[in-house]
Amino acid sequence: MSTSLAAIREQLDDVDQRIIDALAARHALVQKAADHKTEDYVRDAEREEAILDRLGQQAEDAGLHPDLITSLYRTIFDHSVRLQEELIEQRSDTNSKHEPAPSASSRNGSAPPRNGSAVSSSSATGRPAQPAPPPSSNDAPYPRVARSPQQADTAFHVGEVEIGGTDPVLIGGPCSVESRDQIMACAEVVKEAGGHILRGGCFKPRTSPYSFQGLGFEGLDLLADAGRRFGLPIVTEVMDPDHVERIAEQSDILQIGARNMQNFALLKAVGGSHRPVMLKRGMMATVDEWLSAAEYILAHGNERVMLCQRGIRTFEPATRFTLDLTALPVVRERTHLPVIVDPSHACGTRRWVTPLAHGALAAGAQGIMVETHPCPDEARSDGPQSLTFEGFRRLAAPVRTAAPAGL
Ligand code: PEP
Ligand code: MN
Repeated sequence: MSTSLAAIREQLDDVDQRIIDALAARHALVQKAADHKTEDYVRDAEREEAILDRLGQQAEDAGLHPDLITSLYRTIFDHSVRLQEELIEQRSDTNSKHEPAPSASSRNGSAPPRNGSAVSSSSATGRPAQPAPPPSSNDAPYPRVARSPQQADTAFHVGEVEIGGTDPVLIGGPCSVESRDQIMACAEVVKEAGGHILRGGCFKPRTSPYSFQGLGFEGLDLLADAGRRFGLPIVTEVMDPDHVERIAEQSDILQIGARNMQNFALLKAVGGSHRPVMLKRGMMATVDEWLSAAEYILAHGNERVMLCQRGIRTFEPATRFTLDLTALPVVRERTHLPVIVDPSHACGTRRWVTPLAHGALAAGAQGIMVETHPCPDEARSDGPQSLTFEGFRRLAAPVRTAAPAGL
């Protein structure tokens, strides 16, 4: 006779208990390791990536999906880092009780912070915490973001997808997640056409408060389901610092939209996240303001940032915005971070999206993000600029195989 459901559930309870025991053992070791660390060296991103690679492989060998293990471990790492920071802070509080008051220069310190919470813990005065520039920096306004002479491009992985590597990355999906059927249809076409990442807005920055504001966390669940079902990492916009942690539980990339490029509270919050960030250029922002906004994220501990050019406001009313391709070689020269282009929000008109995507790649973009919808005329936001599925398929192949611009 086959095992009853109740018996299987009992066995599951046993397995869960063993997982808790193993995590408690890990927790104890993490506590011990804190004794060997200092506040300017808590997080070791390289070691974390190496562990994730190893565990992903072990998971696969055991018949598990590597994403399950890597996302679980990213959460575990975050908790471990937070725990170690607290322990180190307690230790330095205890030590400082026995030491003379620090001088002004040592209070300001020079070591770079390693993560967001280390930076954002504010003092009793309520003064915002201020990260110190990296020790080797000169007066540059964005020393972490700036490309130093001979510095290679920065590339990082989101799941299996490499951002900033030799192959252009293609991100597609609707402006807004509207329904299960809609996002599943989009995910299917993005996957089949060879796209790498699924996009979809859940919290929408709309000019009018009466326009569709997005499905919120319900939309995020749908987007995450679609990403899982079709094996695509997902990206969605975060507009509220209080949402960062919750959105980061599900979204592989956190998007900062054009309208929030200089929302410094939000930049600090995503700086403390373990998720990569896509930072769009503000519609009225200069290149240096854009790169300085990226510096906030790095200075607060998150080095996995990609920039997204999406059009700026000029005197020209023929298009929704002007796609500033002139900035592409400039930005590629000034920063080592990956740079991609969103032609949809730039031109606002479906038929101009594809030529602009090609122009962007020729000018040095390392990826393209476009909007697509099963029925653009019925879209609840940005229908006129959303590609039909047929249009998306036509755009996809040449984008995926475009040669790097050779900058
Ligand atoms: C978007 O990508 O959904 C979006 C709102 O873009 P932007 O912030 O560039 O307007
Ligand atoms: Mn849109």
